[in-house]
Amino acid sequence: MLKISDLSTFYGNIQALRGIDLEIKQGEVVALIGSNGAGKTTLLKTITGLIKPKTGTILLEDKEITKMEASDIVKLGISLSPEGRQVFPKMTVVENLEIGAFIRKDSKEIRESFERVYQLFPRLYERKNQEAGTLSGGEQQMVAIGRALMSKPKLLLLDEPSLGLAPMLVEMIFELVKEINLQGTTILLIEQNARMALMVADRGYVIETGKIVLQDSADQLLVSDEVRKAYLGE
Ligand code: ATP
Repeated sequence: MLKISDLSTFYGNIQALRGIDLEIKQGEVVALIGSNGAGKTTLLKTITGLIKPKTGTILLEDKEITKMEASDIVKLGISLSPEGRQVFPKMTVVENLEIGAFIRKDSKEIRESFERVYQLFPRLYERKNQEAGTLSGGEQQMVAIGRALMSKPKLLLLDEPSLGLAPMLVEMIFELVKEINLQGTTILLIEQNARMALMVADRGYVIETGKIVLQDSADQLLVSDEVRKAYLGE
C-alpha cells in the first residue's frame, strides 16, 4: 500500500532522515520504534506532505505522492493523528471531528463516519458538545484519533497515541488501534512504548538517528536482544 524508498529529509543543514526504506502492506499494523529525536515524527510529516524530502520517493498504491500538497495526500487516503493530540481547545468535540471530514462532501458518508467514531469512542458521544480543551488527556487523544478517522483513511498514521496516558488508558488506546485495524484501516503506529506497539503490530521497524537499523515481524522484534536491551528495558 505504501512504499518509501531512500527518503532523506533535512531541517536546514540538519539531516533528520537518512535514506529510509519502509513498506506497509494493505491491512497491516506496522510499528515504528525509536527513542527521542530518532526521526519518527519527521517521517510522518514527510509522508503526509507537511515537510518535503530532499531525496527519495513515497508511493501510495503505486502512485507517487512525494511532492504532493498535504491536502491532496489526505484526499488520496492518508490521515495523521498528531503527537501531543493538538485538538482545537475552544471548539467542541463535534466541531473537532467535523474538521477531520473537511475533504468530504457526501453528508450521508460523513454521518456514517461520525457513527463509526462514536461507536469506537462512546465517551466522545457523551461529551460531544464539550469544549475539547476541557477534556482529559485520554479523551483528547480519542478526539485526535477520531478526527483522523473522519477523512475515512486507507492508511492511518498514529504519532505516539499512548504518550502521557495512565496505564489503563494506554491499554484501551491499543485495544482501539487493533479494533480500527480489524475494521479495515491499515496503520502505521509510532511509539516510544515499544512493548505495547509490538504487541498490536504485525511488523516493526527500529529507527535510530534517522536510519532504519532493524526490521522484522513484531514477534521477532519482541524477543530480539537489541530491542529488548534498548527499547524494552530488559
Ligand atoms: P520524539 O519521540 O522525541 O518526538 P522523534 O523520533 O519524533 O522524537 P523528530 O521530531 O522527528 O524525532 O526529530 C528528529 C530530529 O530532527 C531531532 O534531532 C530534532 O531535533 C530535529 N528536528 C525536528 N524538528 C525540527 C525543526 N523544525 N527544526 C530543526 N530540527 C528539527
